[in-house]
Amino acid sequence: MKLSEQIKVGVIGVGHLGQHHVKHFASLPNVNLLGVFDLDTARAAEIATSYNTKPFENVEELLSSCDAISIVTPTTQHANIAERCIALGKHVFIEKPITKTVAEADKLLAMTKKNGTIIQVGHIERLNPALLALKDFDLKPKFIEVQRLAPYTVRGTEVPVVLDLMIHDIDIILSLVNSPVKNIRASGVSIMTNSVDIANARIRFENGTVANLTSSRIAKNKVRKIKSFQRYKYITIDFLLGLTEVYRAMDSETKDPHALITAPLDQDGKHRAIVYEKPPVKKIDALRFELMNFIDSIQGRSVPIVDGKAGRDALEVATNIQKMIIKDIN
Ligand code: NAD
Repeated sequence: MKLSEQIKVGVIGVGHLGQHHVKHFASLPNVNLLGVFDLDTARAAEIATSYNTKPFENVEELLSSCDAISIVTPTTQHANIAERCIALGKHVFIEKPITKTVAEADKLLAMTKKNGTIIQVGHIERLNPALLALKDFDLKPKFIEVQRLAPYTVRGTEVPVVLDLMIHDIDIILSLVNSPVKNIRASGVSIMTNSVDIANARIRFENGTVANLTSSRIAKNKVRKIKSFQRYKYITIDFLLGLTEVYRAMDSETKDPHALITAPLDQDGKHRAIVYEKPPVKKIDALRFELMNFIDSIQGRSVPIVDGKAGRDALEVATNIQKMIIKDIN
């Protein structure tokens, strides 16, 4: 697609998150937002009016007019809708998780391989500025501790908490640890739904890295934190506060202009210091950035930060964790 051409975009599913896709596409340069489709026609009309676009009553009509589609329906609908889009040669942005099953994701990937369309997956935390702030740090985690907690809402409960919440952290961890998964231990419980609402998983990678993840949709307050430990380095990321902190053990002779506080540390006969840094976290809207990345990728200026393969790989690990939990329960 030529750089100068506007990309004709449609949004399918304009509920809680889909409305924000519409808001951004309505104001992004290089985008011509053609319209929206939702099974709830009153909702489609309401969102279309708010953002000065057209509510389509026939999904095929929207698909045939667009170059690219954002799919923001419940997860159970992703595969079916994406298949129809890709079969028509449309680029797709699919909210996370990519699909409900790995087999469905594999089918979509095979289709895009054949016709060259793009799949991007909405693992938005990968574009969280608090994580991006670490891009110049040499991250080689040995141990990662993750907590993602959220108050209960019915939205998202069509899938277990592992596919709803934990999959965000699985995707981040797979992007940080460059090694295949060696084994997984997991357990979980159902509290409010007939599915798993609280899950804990320990992933061991071939290179020895261990990640311990806890996710719960039964919590008073939201928590989204990662702690990462590696040789002489301890990093904490608070995805909600947008706060990244780094503690490093360094030779005390090394002068670091970014060091905010230091504490002396005599170790192995060497004078060292614990250095504390707060890398600057840019104020960006991660969803807008993600959708711009999608449009830029279609126009050949970029590649998806989270492509279909990354979405599929995160889903595979999530599915294995879920299977392990079910085995553990029974
Ligand atoms: P929602 O229930 O608020 O909205 C879903 C909308 O899709 C509804 O308006 C519904 O009428 C419509 N819909 C259902 N089936 C449809 C179909 N076949 N065709 C057209 N419209 C259909 O759900 P939500 O919270 O907006 O979640 C939507 C998706 O976004 C889910 O996959 C969810 O996992 C994902 N999500 C991602 C994040 C994130 O952080 N990236 C956050 C929330 C939700």
